[in-house]
Amino acid sequence: MSVRRRTLLKVIVLGDSGVGKTSLMNQYVHNKFSQQYKATIGADFVTKELQIDDKLVTLQIWDTAGQERFQSLGVAFYRGADCCVLVYDVNVMRSFDSLENWHDEFLKQANPADPKSFPFILLGNKIDVDGGNSRVVSEKKAKEWCAAKGNIPYFETSAKEDYNVDPAFLCIAKAALANE
Ligand code: GDP
Ligand code: MG
Repeated sequence: MSVRRRTLLKVIVLGDSGVGKTSLMNQYVHNKFSQQYKATIGADFVTKELQIDDKLVTLQIWDTAGQERFQSLGVAFYRGADCCVLVYDVNVMRSFDSLENWHDEFLKQANPADPKSFPFILLGNKIDVDGGNSRVVSEKKAKEWCAAKGNIPYFETSAKEDYNVDPAFLCIAKAALANE
C-alpha cells in the first residue's frame, strides 16, 4: 500500500467587512448559505480536503474574525500563507477601492520571500444581486486592476447562488500548491 503525503496549504481571505468572505468559505466547505449577517467569530480557519491530479491536499482557509474593521489581524494570521484571496463586492465601490490596501497590507505583514510572484486571487462577489443591475464595478475594471498587479486570476462569484465558487477555490488551491 502506498502512503501518500497530504500537503497542507494555508490560504488567507481578505477584504472589507460584508463582502461575503465567510459566505464564500461556507458555500465552498459546507455547501451552505445564510442571509443573516453575523460578524465572524470563533474558529480561525476551516479545512477542505481535495485532490489535485494525484496529490491529496488539505486547504486550510483562514477567515478574518471581524477585525477587518480595525486592521488588527495578528502575525499568526499571515504567517506561512501559501495564497492570498482578495474579495470585494461588485455592488460596492468602496470595497473595490480597498483592494489596494489589502494587497499592500498582506505583503507588508506576510512578507513573502518573492512578493512579485506571490499568488493572489481576486473574487468579485455578489454578482447575483438585483440580477446584476446594481453592480458598480465592471468586469473590465476588475481585470485591469488584476493585470496591473501582475496578472492576478479573477473570478466573479455568488456565494448565495453557488456560482463559480468551486472553480475559484480550485484555482486558489492550485496556485497555493504551485507556491508551496
Ligand atoms: P464577510 O464580512 O466578508 O465575511 O461577509 P459575510 O459572508 O458575512 O456576508 C455579508 C452579507 O452578505 C450576509 O448577509 C450574506 O448573506 C450576504 N452575502 C454574502 N455573499 C453573498 C452573495 O454572493 N450574494 C448575496 N446576495 N448576498 C451575499
Ligand atoms: Mg466574515
